[in-house]
Amino acid sequence: MSEVRVRIAPSPSGNLHIGTARTALFNYLFAKKMGGKFILRIEDTDAERTSQEYIDNIFDSLKALGLNWDEGPDVGGPYGPYTQSQRFDIYPKYVQQLLDSGFAYECFCTPEELEQEKEEATKAKKPYVYSKKCENLTEEEKAKLRAEGRKPAIRFNIAKAQKAFHDSSILKFDDVVKGELHMDTDLLGDFVIQKSNGAPTYNFAVVIDDALMKISHVIRGEDHISNTYKQILIFEALGFEVPKFGHLGMILAPDRSKLSKRHGATAVSDFVKQGYLTDALINFVALLGWSPSDGEEIKSVDEIAKDFRLNEISSSNSIFEYDKLKWMNSHYIKMLPMEELKERLKPYLSQYNLDELTDAQYTKMVEITREPLTLLSDITDAVPYFFGKDVHIDEETQTKTLDTEVSQNVLKDFVPKAQTWDWTDENLHEKLADFRAEWKEKGVKPKVTMWAIRAAITGRTCGADMVGILDILGKETSLYRAQKAIK
Ligand code: GLU
Repeated sequence: MSEVRVRIAPSPSGNLHIGTARTALFNYLFAKKMGGKFILRIEDTDAERTSQEYIDNIFDSLKALGLNWDEGPDVGGPYGPYTQSQRFDIYPKYVQQLLDSGFAYECFCTPEELEQEKEEATKAKKPYVYSKKCENLTEEEKAKLRAEGRKPAIRFNIAKAQKAFHDSSILKFDDVVKGELHMDTDLLGDFVIQKSNGAPTYNFAVVIDDALMKISHVIRGEDHISNTYKQILIFEALGFEVPKFGHLGMILAPDRSKLSKRHGATAVSDFVKQGYLTDALINFVALLGWSPSDGEEIKSVDEIAKDFRLNEISSSNSIFEYDKLKWMNSHYIKMLPMEELKERLKPYLSQYNLDELTDAQYTKMVEITREPLTLLSDITDAVPYFFGKDVHIDEETQTKTLDTEVSQNVLKDFVPKAQTWDWTDENLHEKLADFRAEWKEKGVKPKVTMWAIRAAITGRTCGADMVGILDILGKETSLYRAQKAIK
């Protein structure tokens, strides 16, 4: 296999998980680096847990992250279809081949019988391994069971395959990320490759698909390592070339437990809804296992692809630091060109009537409020005072700032003076400075003077540049609010 062909094979039983996004990214980067192909395959064999909504979410999230695939359900390719449920007619032939060569056998055990075996193993404090009760059924016995109405599942014969291709029961493989891994295959148990209803199981379908799609490297989470042993044996039993395997460490929450919804968002689309930029997300996710050679962490996918080496991925677990992601996101927000930021913020401003602002005013509002944004969604709470005639003043601002004698005096002086001001940015800047200086002479600190004006006009004691706010609101609204705050 000379061409590098890698794949991401999500099961659409949920929205695209951030961990799957990382697996997709590492596959994508490896394909880019090696001039190979990145393939998307939808593993929807579990019909009950699959939904079109999740399939759409997987497509949309991967696209939003810029992880475009060369072959896949929508774009096609030479080894399609790329949706497992459309490949069901492909699998039986290979099941038959395994039955014919003795690497698989029919199993007529009922769920109750299997349950009993499991219970006995639990009682004996032994790991459960299928008893192989059906391995050597005679044709007569099988016919009898069939006559009872039993439909067989097909099991893979681990020991037989192991013996045919390896010296002992130990199966070794060279993991591209983790180095040599091995396992005693006697502990695996003959697993089902085709259910009694005829549907292939994951471990079987994945091998057939990877083989037929000529996948050269299988890069996925380390939770699949025990599957890899089973899959290698199926590849061998069917005479397929075994791909290279690489297993990525897990992504853990800051408390070192499995990352889950109780820690925060886990689906890419939820991060996006919360106001994360996909560029920041993908950059952050790349650092979960990969480190840039120059130590510079802020990097685009194209830059990362140049520097990426599969065998340099860390084999240990990575901690998902939400705080670091936030820091990275604020950096990416700062880097966004103004016009793009204006567009990106709009979904988070839907509760306001943007028509109240001209484009110039909207631009200015974004200019003076963008600096502290960590998430795009932070804009929602940063700007209410730019809209409407009246402003909401919270109780603390009212009692602690606006109701004080000094604030009241400042405002009584401010309104008539400001009435005469020419309301341009430059002039306001100068006039406000003079106004502060006058009050400083009377012994009032400049910041106290500004608190009074800011509180009256914005309902808050801190926020964006005050001259900018006055300019956007205009003289009429600004002074209407200032006047209203006077008792
Ligand atoms: N459908 C499997 C999953 O979502 C894919 C595993 C694999 O990459 O083989 O976990």
